[in-house]
Amino acid sequence: MAKKVQKVIPNAAVPPAEGRTVTIEGENYLELNDAMHTFYRRSMGELSPFFLALRDDKKIIGAKCSKCGIVRVPPMAWFCPDCDFAPAKAVEVSDRGKMLFTPPITYFANSMFQEQVPFGRGRVVPDGADTGLSVNLYTTTGILVPGIFKKGTEVKLVFRNNRYGKITDIFGLPASELSEKQLAKKGLLESEIDWEAAVEPKMPAATKKAAAHFEKAFKNLKKVVDDLNKCERAKKDIEGWKRTILVKTPGGKFVIAIDNGDLSVKKGATTKQDFTMVANNLDTVLKGLAYEGSLTEAIMKADLWISKNIEFMTVFKLERMARSLARSRK
Ligand SMILES: [Zn+2]
Repeated sequence: MAKKVQKVIPNAAVPPAEGRTVTIEGENYLELNDAMHTFYRRSMGELSPFFLALRDDKKIIGAKCSKCGIVRVPPMAWFCPDCDFAPAKAVEVSDRGKMLFTPPITYFANSMFQEQVPFGRGRVVPDGADTGLSVNLYTTTGILVPGIFKKGTEVKLVFRNNRYGKITDIFGLPASELSEKQLAKKGLLESEIDWEAAVEPKMPAATKKAAAHFEKAFKNLKKVVDDLNKCERAKKDIEGWKRTILVKTPGGKFVIAIDNGDLSVKKGATTKQDFTMVANNLDTVLKGLAYEGSLTEAIMKADLWISKNIEFMTVFKLERMARSLARSRK
């Protein structure tokens, strides 16, 4: 199989070759998208052994001072500044460690990192090292929310299948989400992780009241979706995107279908979903799509759960549709 080549600038970040008319003080001006290219090669210098070991050997290398014995990861100093620049030697450290502090989570990233959100970013101190390695953090339990990683949480560092010699070649998962076998394996690959094993949050029991509320709220949802579907600006937000989402709420289930510019909802279930959403209340989804609330915020507050971290992108697109419709009404 041909290896997928990643571009320095992702395609999604390259604007289309088009322009727009800008009107300033009654005069029309043409504005075109253009580009300035400046590509360069960056030497990793003294950090090369570290990045080469990540890429080629799935190993994490630190620099151990020959005098005081401190192990720095990454090896940012091959001569120890604390010991009159005594030489350090390369040592392998563990791919298991502990969080140095509770990491912040990024939900809104610029276009370069949009495919990675949400991710935590924090320092993991690998066993055998004395400093923290800054890595991205994920979960296999659905979407990353506060509370999964805390100061002291045990972490396993996992290697990407396609590695380039960058710090994003590795990422951290909570050790508690992995099996003993996975934890023991050196150079564990992302393809050896079960990303489909997310456990759905428990919902309150379905009551007559909840079912009645669902019927009412679903009618409103259908109206909002119809409006979104009539808005050209909103349709553009899901251009080229295709997803089937099964949404579970205490009052009932429904399916959201995103089909290249078309959005629709249908009552009932499906087995062909790309991912599952669990909402504590249909209103959470309704408000998000009606631009009266935020789906992202609902996720952060655990009022809304999605089964795959990477599908946050889809939630983001839905939210953008809501914003587009609200703006087009101004
Ligand atoms: Zn030293």
